[in-house]
Amino acid sequence: MNQPAQILYIEDNPDNQRLVQRVLSARGYQVVIAEDGPNGLALARTSHPALVLVDLGIPGLDGYETTTRLRSLPHMHGVPIIALTADASPGSRERALVAGCDGYLSKPIDARALPAQIAEFIDGRRERLPETMETELLRSYNQKLVERLEARVRELTIANAQLQDLDRLKDQFLATLSHELRTPLTSLLGYLELFDRGMLGPLNPQQEEAVRVMRRSGEILARQLNNLLYFQEIRSRSLNFVALQPLDVLRPLIAMFRERAAQAQLQFEAVLTETQPIEVDRSAFEHLVRNLLDNAFQYTKPGGKVRLMVRDEPTRLIVRVEDTGIGIAPAEHEKIFLPFYQVDHSLARGYPGSGLGLAIVRHIVEAHGGQIALRSAPGEGSAFTVAIPRRSVGA
Ligand code: ADP
Repeated sequence: MNQPAQILYIEDNPDNQRLVQRVLSARGYQVVIAEDGPNGLALARTSHPALVLVDLGIPGLDGYETTTRLRSLPHMHGVPIIALTADASPGSRERALVAGCDGYLSKPIDARALPAQIAEFIDGRRERLPETMETELLRSYNQKLVERLEARVRELTIANAQLQDLDRLKDQFLATLSHELRTPLTSLLGYLELFDRGMLGPLNPQQEEAVRVMRRSGEILARQLNNLLYFQEIRSRSLNFVALQPLDVLRPLIAMFRERAAQAQLQFEAVLTETQPIEVDRSAFEHLVRNLLDNAFQYTKPGGKVRLMVRDEPTRLIVRVEDTGIGIAPAEHEKIFLPFYQVDHSLARGYPGSGLGLAIVRHIVEAHGGQIALRSAPGEGSAFTVAIPRRSVGA
């Protein structure tokens, strides 16, 4: 019936771990081992040890600090914490007691005496310091803790500055790279379009097909680059709100996607009702709708249908993009909005992408104080619904 008493042992040395485990298990204790302070604290939170043995010399959060933190956990109140240390220097026992330990055992571990010592502490033995000494020692212990904290904060501040520098460098690199790639790509695509339209002389059917494939690939590349550039841009600038009529932004987009629908053999329908002007960032709003439509076209096979709907509600504008495409499993619904995330199921293979389209969409929606909802299941198409609130006058 009786559960074996649990001993939490916080120790990084494998030889000591083995020794204590062997000696105490033989006496019916259940020993759980943590290799460092943070793990010891995690174990203490989830289990209810009858006693904690802590090596004072563990790296990182040291044994003194771990003890002080353990002492602050409500369910550890009254649980004996025993320091185990090879440090025999004067004052080391007192420092352990002032940090919150109830006892102090020196290393090397005396395997024969250990079980009895442990039993005594479980039965209530406690070592205490004289009160006058305790106050003095507490002051210097606190001072040491603050000094350690100060050093840590300094290290973290430096590390943080270095990370910010690296992040800036990465942004700069991506922006430069995207620019450098975009310029030649634009002229390449321009010429391919001239060929495709027959403006540079007649092509035979094989050449026509080759030009079409090159154009499609070039357009995909351009989309990736634009998303990469825009992802950098949108995160580093604030929005420029202007009042505009959504249909003015949407009409050219719709014309472009109609052309694409014909090429891709998809049905494309735009259901637009007259809406009130709304304050949005023009280019962000355009990117938002374009990315949703790009995806709907990309993930819908020929013969399928894509629908764009825009309508007014009293306090917000609703934009909805629906498709009859491959759909998205519910488990992916959250993840697809993360930067660089792409669904890795067999259906999606062969669809090129950067995984940035929806991260951009979400950023834009949130920057407008709006919301985005997704209804989708594999094989049943997808519907992305965006709600953008109307900013009250003077907001
Ligand atoms: P990508 O550049 O890969 O399209 P996105 O961020 O736009 O990046 O989309 C992330 C993932 O979400 C895509 O890889 C795709 O699997 C999935 N996805 C997005 N839109 C649709 C959609 N309309 N239908 C099916 N899957 C979609």
